[in-house]
Amino acid sequence: MNAEIVCIGTELLMGELTDSNSAWIAGRLPPLGVKLQWVSIVGDDLPQLTSAFRQGLQRSEVIFTTGGLGPTQDDLTREAVAAAFGETPAVQEAVVERLRAYFAARGAEMPPHNIKQAWLIPSAQFLDNPNGTAPGWWAERDGRRIICLPGPPGEMQAIFRNEVEPRLRELATGEITLTRNIKTMGMSEGAVDEVMAEYFGRDNPYLGIYSKADGIHLRIIARAADEAAARALLAPVEAAIHQRLAAHIWGYDDETPERAVAESLRARGRSLAVMEFPTGGYLTNAITEAADAPGLFRGGLVARDAAAMAAGGVPAETLRRYGLVSQATANEMAQAIRQRLQADYGIGITGSPGPGELEGQPMGLAYVALAGPQSAQELELRVPPRRITIKRRISNQALIELRKLIEAGG
Ligand code: ATP
Ligand code: MG
Repeated sequence: MNAEIVCIGTELLMGELTDSNSAWIAGRLPPLGVKLQWVSIVGDDLPQLTSAFRQGLQRSEVIFTTGGLGPTQDDLTREAVAAAFGETPAVQEAVVERLRAYFAARGAEMPPHNIKQAWLIPSAQFLDNPNGTAPGWWAERDGRRIICLPGPPGEMQAIFRNEVEPRLRELATGEITLTRNIKTMGMSEGAVDEVMAEYFGRDNPYLGIYSKADGIHLRIIARAADEAAARALLAPVEAAIHQRLAAHIWGYDDETPERAVAESLRARGRSLAVMEFPTGGYLTNAITEAADAPGLFRGGLVARDAAAMAAGGVPAETLRRYGLVSQATANEMAQAIRQRLQADYGIGITGSPGPGELEGQPMGLAYVALAGPQSAQELELRVPPRRITIKRRISNQALIELRKLIEAGG
């Protein structure tokens, strides 16, 4: 089934908003056997939207749209779909009631212009929106579909998962694509490439290698008539990767280093505290994205100079003797924050954050220390001298190593 995505909104054309909806939808289509061929962005303009839909209906069996389902005058998706199908919308009283109830529950009256969120054309059905006022539309005629979803990602994704995916699965014929992403850390791209050499260059299953901020990823892509057949193609390649790289694999698919650590801590009822310098809060931010269980992440200190480190409990003598950028200081950071915040594990990260050198040490050099109830670990890292690379790579590597330490009972 051929598909395209039309992202709607003048904001997108003005560079004020970056489209992320199309990438999210694109990622969910291969396992459904839907082949994405076009992605376009169209402003809030009725003639242009209508012509985009007319053109889309000629070349695609499915058009997904996001945005323009709100109540305002520049939300024109419904009007354009009606025009492209040559149909007239009618107000659905049941939906008007639901909208009134939605507003009443928030102590407000429904503004009159929200009425158009209750419009429907004869060829369309509503897609229930659990997170907002605007229901989506599934419009279909002569084997062609326009599936309209709201712009806000939270609303769009819920409707897609709950309503759109099950229907597309029923429609699926032909090939489906399955992907398995295996994430490693600690080997260079060249080394991984060499170890897996015989598997590259094949078409199905296809093996790709990607260097990311959280290590080297290996992605296996298999195409087959159904899921079981695709899994049978993936399995031997995945087994080979395991056999050759087991010690370096830290995660799969959309797992992240912070979620992996949070899972390990949660499973063992353990807690973590951090003191970081060159990563400037990135580590803390990452952990708080993942760790929502109370007590799991005790807290952190972003220490930007020796005085701040000393205030956090790093002995002044260590700082004087070894300097800011040293393994000894990283070790004391991890121990100090672990003790002060009474956490089971501590991470300390120091280094040379740039611009330029610090204490004669090059930008991108870092020392990481992990302290646990049973053991401790030291790590010297050198990453390319870019601020965001330093923040991401060093935080990720610290988390991945901590994961291993926790799993090993350290
Ligand atoms: P609303 O009822 O909130 O107005 P809508 O369906 O009319 O929803 P838009 O007005 O087009 O959607 O966009 C609303 C918000 O949704 C945008 O301000 C933006 O935050 C988000 N959004 C819209 N399109 C995209 C997109 N392509 N990628 C990511 N976010 C988007
Ligand atoms: Mg809107």
